[in-house]
Amino acid sequence: MQLDFARAFGEAHPVVRSRLYPDTTDAEWGDWRWHQQHRITTVEDLERVVRLTDDERAATQATARRFRMAITPYWATLMDPEDPACPLRRQAVPTSGELRVWPGERPDPLAEETFMPVPGLTHRYPDRVLLYTTHNCAMYCRYCTRKRKVSDPDSQPGKSELDVALDYIRRTPTVRDVIISGGDPLSLSNERLDALLEALAAIPHVEVARLGTRNLVTLPQRVDAGLAAVLGRHQSRHLAVWVMTHFNHPKECTDDAWEACERIASTGTPIQNQSVLLRGVNDQADVLAQLSRRLLRMRVKPYYLLHADLEEGIGHFRTTIGEGKALLHALRGPLSGLGIPQYVVDLPTGGGKVPVVPDYEAQRPRPAGGDDPGADEWVFTNWQGRAIAIPEPLPGPVGIG
Ligand code: SF4
Repeated sequence: MQLDFARAFGEAHPVVRSRLYPDTTDAEWGDWRWHQQHRITTVEDLERVVRLTDDERAATQATARRFRMAITPYWATLMDPEDPACPLRRQAVPTSGELRVWPGERPDPLAEETFMPVPGLTHRYPDRVLLYTTHNCAMYCRYCTRKRKVSDPDSQPGKSELDVALDYIRRTPTVRDVIISGGDPLSLSNERLDALLEALAAIPHVEVARLGTRNLVTLPQRVDAGLAAVLGRHQSRHLAVWVMTHFNHPKECTDDAWEACERIASTGTPIQNQSVLLRGVNDQADVLAQLSRRLLRMRVKPYYLLHADLEEGIGHFRTTIGEGKALLHALRGPLSGLGIPQYVVDLPTGGGKVPVVPDYEAQRPRPAGGDDPGADEWVFTNWQGRAIAIPEPLPGPVGIG
């Protein structure tokens, strides 16, 4: 089935492709390796696909050593070539905002390196670990929280490091859930992913493996038949494999992305989405609502809306928490609960994630003169702004009806 998301969303993706990549065959365009090999990594490449502002041009050069730029041709055809405020362009093209460090920002905001019992694995919560498999991604998101190592080929985890991490999981029986992360684990070959899932499936206490990937968004061609076969093969009563992806904006929900999700979902693999709340990208209620509706059509559950971490040089993307709460409040009512992600702050120094919810309720003493005095009541404000009270239960009934 073709939903033709791109056209429905007013984008001319195939037209842009033929303008930017006129000699590319359909076979090449459908091959994720071709996109990897033709990624945009220099200012000169970038000038061919967008009209750069002076700020973007200077920032691309100034940030190259600290956090590389890489943009897939697929993503390039989704960016607005004329508008630097395009939400997809803002996620991929450096700007001078990255050169500023704001109070509280730090290179490892979540203290992932501090909670490493062995190299290449973060163990913060009792039952789950984060396993770093690669430092490569199809595209480097300008707000990435792991700039300290992602995009750096020199710090790439090797096979021996991965073996040590797997050994730690084997001898730590509290670990039930392994989040396979990076970088992007879909940068690995299907064979390596297969071997990794095989190794996890052989550990009796591991019940869940989550593949954290943005390839569905930045390089959906990567979800080939071989990957689908790997996912399908490892679904069992013993080990459930989930895909955790990362769509931020409705324009990312293209036909190609729909097909990638369809391929994964048809193997029985559940897909959840973790967006990052980003100023100038998705900090509007109608944008978030549209994103959720399209994700649900793609069989992707909106799971988290993450407040932007205190990563260095992303202050220009960060909203206030009050803005985040107001956005969540605006989603409740127009959107079903299925489409509403949990807004969370991942606390600095490894404090973990905490949900942030709009202020819906207040407790107050019951007004005097009622039949059942003595109890408090909770007053809730519904999505329309109407206040509705329910009594706090008394220790026992006040009568028999
Ligand atoms: S895909 Fe994830 S790890 Fe890679 S650059 Fe983007 S946010 Fe960072």
